[in-house]
Amino acid sequence: MNKDIYSYSIDELQSLFGELGLPRFRAQQLFEWLHTHNAISYDQMTNLPKALRQQLSIAFPLSRTTLKEKQTSSDGTRKYLLELSDNELVESVGIPSPPPADKSVPNVSRETFLDDFMPSTPSNDMQRLTVCFSTQVGCGMGCVFCATGQEGLSRNLSAQEIVDQVVTVQQDFGQRVSNLVAMGQGEPFLNYENLMMALRRFNTDKGFQIGARHITVSTCGILQGIQQFTQEPEQFTLAVSLHSAVQVKRNYIMPALASQPLDQLRSVIEEYISKTRRRITFEYLLLQDINDTEEDLLALIEYCKGLLCHINLIPFNETGAALQGSSMDRIKVWLQRLNANNISTTLRHSKGADIAGACGQLKNVSRETF
Ligand code: SF4
Repeated sequence: MNKDIYSYSIDELQSLFGELGLPRFRAQQLFEWLHTHNAISYDQMTNLPKALRQQLSIAFPLSRTTLKEKQTSSDGTRKYLLELSDNELVESVGIPSPPPADKSVPNVSRETFLDDFMPSTPSNDMQRLTVCFSTQVGCGMGCVFCATGQEGLSRNLSAQEIVDQVVTVQQDFGQRVSNLVAMGQGEPFLNYENLMMALRRFNTDKGFQIGARHITVSTCGILQGIQQFTQEPEQFTLAVSLHSAVQVKRNYIMPALASQPLDQLRSVIEEYISKTRRRITFEYLLLQDINDTEEDLLALIEYCKGLLCHINLIPFNETGAALQGSSMDRIKVWLQRLNANNISTTLRHSKGADIAGACGQLKNVSRETF
């Protein structure tokens, strides 16, 4: 099978066209269609001769991701159900938000969705558009609170299938995507190569050009993935789902991570911070009587001591799991206590909950239930 046409550099495309006896400018045209205009079909490439388009479509078929359904939340968030070439389904979410607020406001106030992942978004009048994309069909990690995790893993997404999600949202909103988070279905670091290939396209393709610091990968804490990510030259940002700093509780909440203990996680995070000089974000979903007790709070404060980190507290969204979210009063106590201990902490205001597009709510749904 031929290599993915999107993965060819311009030089490689020109050599390929040279071998085929085609003029070099045709390679340039093709490259622009793929990487500047985000073309998803050869039919769109109207300045290429029809015969060449046919030749290319046989040798290098483009991915066949199609939009099956779209739902729009009352807050403007849009959730997309995409069908892949093998009929698997995957979800992505587009989250519009106003430009960043005055950063002099203390960060204990409610922030819009994922503000803490966008510390350096330039201030302008344009509304921001964040895409939360998936990296796998389903997920094998089985976190107790997560709708995706209850359904198991089907397969990894290709780099192009990851890119297709962002192209879909960008085209649907008719505006450029400003921020990306790999926080949809799947564990991104268990699909490392394809993830990185897609991230590099988001970062460098003219059709995206999203600054690396506006692209966040959220992992449940895969040690090897964090170590690998530490070595990458780009300034992509990292978020880690912690959900408990008490080992036995974390084992319950995230059973597949029991073999990757908290002390080792802290070591690889220290290494990440020391090498990259970048802050990491811990995500902490507050579940009543499970991980929101005084003991849990003290353990988290201890775990974060001396780490360049930010904590993102997440209210629990309904996923069908028999779990109860912490009360807003309890969440406020955590927010105050963590900040009082000089641990920068915000409360995530998840958007799209009314369309099951908020954190932990994405899952493989059938066409009937979407
Ligand atoms: S929270 Fe993330 S890692 Fe855990 S099961 Fe859900 S998708 Fe997988």
